[in-house]
Amino acid sequence: MSGGLRAGVELGGTKTIAVIGREREILERIAFPTTTPDETLGAVADQLRVWHRQYQPEALGIASFGPIALGARHVVRGHMLPTPKAGWSGADILGVLSGAMPGPVALHTDVTAAALAEQRWGAARGLEDLVYITVGTGVGMGIIAGGRPVTGRMHPEAGHLRVPRLPGDDFAGVCLFHGDCLEGLASGPAIAARTGMTADVLPQDHPAWLPVADALAEGIAALMLTLACERIVIGGGVGLGRPHLLAMAKARIAAKLGGYLPSLDDAEIGAMIVPAALGSDAGPLGALALAELALTGGASVPAQDGGC
Ligand code: ZN
Repeated sequence: MSGGLRAGVELGGTKTIAVIGREREILERIAFPTTTPDETLGAVADQLRVWHRQYQPEALGIASFGPIALGARHVVRGHMLPTPKAGWSGADILGVLSGAMPGPVALHTDVTAAALAEQRWGAARGLEDLVYITVGTGVGMGIIAGGRPVTGRMHPEAGHLRVPRLPGDDFAGVCLFHGDCLEGLASGPAIAARTGMTADVLPQDHPAWLPVADALAEGIAALMLTLACERIVIGGGVGLGRPHLLAMAKARIAAKLGGYLPSLDDAEIGAMIVPAALGSDAGPLGALALAELALTGGASVPAQDGGC
């Protein structure tokens, strides 16, 4: 028996990580390739059963790629919603994993979990209203309002906000649904489609960074006006890997606000919008933070007794 132990699973598009931890200390970490739901969820469930016998963790948190059915009205709550990822539409994530480990379980998106981890241990420590934005393969957002993850009909999908385009920019965008939404204009694949180069090697002075930064600034200004958030944390392979992008976006936000929110000068905006602090550990630590939420009853997410 080990007090304070939590189990976490970060289900990613290519890799899934299972962890045992206490607070922000990860004691064991095992990675699995994300292949089919049967293979991947089965292997993770087997590992959870081993850890249950070995450690008896007090709760399980699951941070998953989306979209997933989280809302109370979903008859398939805890299942993957229709997704382009082959074989995963309808996969019963919550059912398979919670069946492997008795005790409270919470499931939310990987970006919401990362927001919780940054709130608990990282760049937004102690704040109740924050947004975590990942800019990478896609653009995703986890939103914490009043200390709780936002979950209504489902999880927020603010990466698909439509944003005004930079005048003269005729790039069609890469989002399959919207073309030029935030994800369609500012994700890694959007940068690659614009330039023929991946974001990690695109020179810092390349003109294609300007419309990307402008789209991000539009999206961030919309969040500031909508949520009155205390901090916006930027992560993801592009967002963290190319820090000049965040600097460019921040420099454009005051102009986007057009003099509204006059209490926010450049210095305040600079302090409010910050890079993520937990790096690649945000996912697994987020899963542990979700486990904590399941235990404390603070989760506006599916929390249930697993029961073997
Ligand atoms: Zn979109």
